Amino acid sequence: MATGIEGIFLDERRRQRTKFTIDAPVVVLSCGAIYSPHMLLKNGIANRSGQVGRNLHIHPASKVIGIFDQEINAWSGTPQGAYSDDFAAEGIMLEGFFLPPAILSFALPALSRKLKDYMADYSKMAGFGVMVTDSSRGRVIRGLGHFPLVLYNLNQTDTDKFVKGIDIVSRIYFAAGARKILSPVHGMDELTSVDDLEKLHRAKVRASDLELSAFHPMGTCRMGDSSKNSVVNSHLESHDVKGLFVADA
Ligand SMILES: Cc1cc2nc3c(=O)[nH]c(=O)nc-3n(C[C@H](O)[C@H](O)[C@H](O)COP(=O)(O)OP(=O)(O)OC[C@H]3O[C@@H](n4cnc5c(N)ncnc54)[C@H](O)[C@@H]3O)c2cc1C
Repeated sequence: MATGIEGIFLDERRRQRTKFTIDAPVVVLSCGAIYSPHMLLKNGIANRSGQVGRNLHIHPASKVIGIFDQEINAWSGTPQGAYSDDFAAEGIMLEGFFLPPAILSFALPALSRKLKDYMADYSKMAGFGVMVTDSSRGRVIRGLGHFPLVLYNLNQTDTDKFVKGIDIVSRIYFAAGARKILSPVHGMDELTSVDDLEKLHRAKVRASDLELSAFHPMGTCRMGDSSKNSVVNSHLESHDVKGLFVADA
């Protein structure tokens, strides 16, 4: 049963200083889906199920940039003000987004002169993200030192969802008059017509061909009725340690 926490204050150089103890009737662990399981694994608690750190889902995401002839000024207006969930049943969400120049510039598929040419069209760019409900599962384990190690491989089913999402966004951009599209598929960085999308489908895209990021880590202290295959119950309380709650994604 959890009765509080013990810790050690660090100084500004992260050297360990004074110990402290806090007595508490309940303890809530809420370090997020990467650090909460890491905390449990480091302390060797609440893991009789062996599920702590498993079942990591991340909603992997990628971006498609359309470059138009006219000014878009995509920084103006409400961020993420447009989206489509028409393909949600297939695990594909399409969300408008845009980035400040300093960040977008290192997220474009170019260097040197070509990158400069792209950035000259910054005001004519539009951005849409493709986000995928992942059937792939990752895992958080203990890494070196104080840090967790995150393992994750995107499976082919989820990779195919990206190809479909990129195809849909690209067709919308071309229909709206885009001159070219910067895709997140390595080797097919620049698409200039709908015909190029046929090449995308013929290319048999693999996970390692995609430029991806993710913002929604979740699931690593799995909820369930049985202590055999889940970490917390439906009240977020650990099956193993009474009074210990995990409240995060
Ligand atoms: C760029 C971005 C955009 C997003 N957009 C959306 C969106 O539009 N809609 C949406 O629903 N979600 C969005 N999300 C996801 C959402 O932010 C997260 O799902 C949510 O914040 C997770 O909450 P949490 O409490 O699990 O973890 P967190 O919010 O990550 O909180 C965990 C906290 O624990 C602290 N912590 C970790 N380890 C320790 C430790 N050892 N000691 C003390 N403190 C510790 C961390 O500093 C952090 O403050 C976005 C995320 C990002 C990064």
